[in-house]
Amino acid sequence: MVTRPLRFAEILAVGSELLTPFRSDTNSLYLTARLNELGLDVRGKSVVLDDRATLAAALRAALTRADVVVTTGGLGPTDDDVTREAVADVAGVTFEEDPALLAAIEARFARRGIRMPSINARQAQVPKGAAALENPNGTAPGLWFKIGEQVLVALPGPPRELKPMFEVSVLPRLRDLCASAVLRRRTLKTTGRSESHVEEIAQPIYTTWLQSDPVISTTILAAPGQVELHLAAQGEDASVLDRALDDAVHKLEAALAPAVFSIDGRTLEEVVGALLLERGFKLSAAESCTAGLLLGALTDVSGSSAWIEGGVVAYANEVKVQALDVPAALIDTHGAVSEPVAQAMADGVRRRLKTDLGVGITGIAGPTGGTEAKPVGTVALAVSGPGDRSVVRMVRLPGDRTTVRRMAVQAALDLIRRVLTDADYN
Ligand code: AMP
Ligand code: MG
Repeated sequence: MVTRPLRFAEILAVGSELLTPFRSDTNSLYLTARLNELGLDVRGKSVVLDDRATLAAALRAALTRADVVVTTGGLGPTDDDVTREAVADVAGVTFEEDPALLAAIEARFARRGIRMPSINARQAQVPKGAAALENPNGTAPGLWFKIGEQVLVALPGPPRELKPMFEVSVLPRLRDLCASAVLRRRTLKTTGRSESHVEEIAQPIYTTWLQSDPVISTTILAAPGQVELHLAAQGEDASVLDRALDDAVHKLEAALAPAVFSIDGRTLEEVVGALLLERGFKLSAAESCTAGLLLGALTDVSGSSAWIEGGVVAYANEVKVQALDVPAALIDTHGAVSEPVAQAMADGVRRRLKTDLGVGITGIAGPTGGTEAKPVGTVALAVSGPGDRSVVRMVRLPGDRTTVRRMAVQAALDLIRRVLTDADYN
């Protein structure tokens, strides 16, 4: 018999506590990573309360869409643990006591010198046709149930029980059934363009891949100052998928350049750090409205001491004048948030700290302090160096104080990147 390889998975996190503001479902993140490694595409996940009929309905619905359905939680001995029952309902089977399982649960209590409470005997009840999965870290056994060509796996809720059970008992079984499935992903990161701008350029390109072979699915994710494109393809031959995805990434990169800063998962600060290292440059920064956030981001990168010298938090005008030699007259004439002052800050910190590049950031993070000419979100950025290069740029950033400050850091990092790669600034 030729069986169809398993392709799609769904996860059901069972537990009423997961529907309160106090607990969150983290098991499904772990499971998604593991299932993806097997080539399974997780196409849905839900959080379901501890109720037998609700869970049975959710299981039935998931089985109409997925080849593999994994549940977590609800396998304990108490009345609110109903996963075993719901699984039996869906499969239309009754229970059988597994004597070896009962002995193992009893032995677990005996080792701790206590009598097994009678309610734990329930955990040795296995739906007919299902295999019990050993739990070395708790009493709740898991369940492996093959229903036709589909697989239903029930795992305990506590992560320290679920993870070893998945690795030891589920992974080898699934690997056999998924042998030929491969799932590959790529991430392309852009900055300096809004989500809609990226979509406008990327959408006509990536929609054609929905009809291609292999099919490539694309998702756009926006964060402050950054828009990411996530590509995924599923198939049987890893090299075919890799080639198709690399080709897709390069098409998007060509269309979106110079906004694309990473196609290998690196952050913008990591990319800037690598460029500085490669060119043998040292950088310093004078930060007003970001007050150290730029240097904070850059020094998050390990090895940053090779290319970061230091900086000045120049929040007050006197500090700009005294620590950075910004002419007081410049501030009087143009205002502290202005291109000439950002430029003088960048030049000043570069000269004082004797670095190849100096960065200046001055802006209005809000919510107060904005004017008609310079509303909240107005930020002036400058890069002085290397050599006699100097670039200054005024941006208008949206959002609250935290967002403006975060986006200002991102814009400054991007300006440094563009200076170092001779890219277009606009
Ligand atoms: P249960 O197997 O339903 O008895 O789950 C026992 C404990 O496992 C709960 O108290 C939760 O703290 C934890 N747990 C259950 N489900 C999840 C989940 N999806 N993610 C993380 N922890 C969970
Ligand atoms: Mg529970």
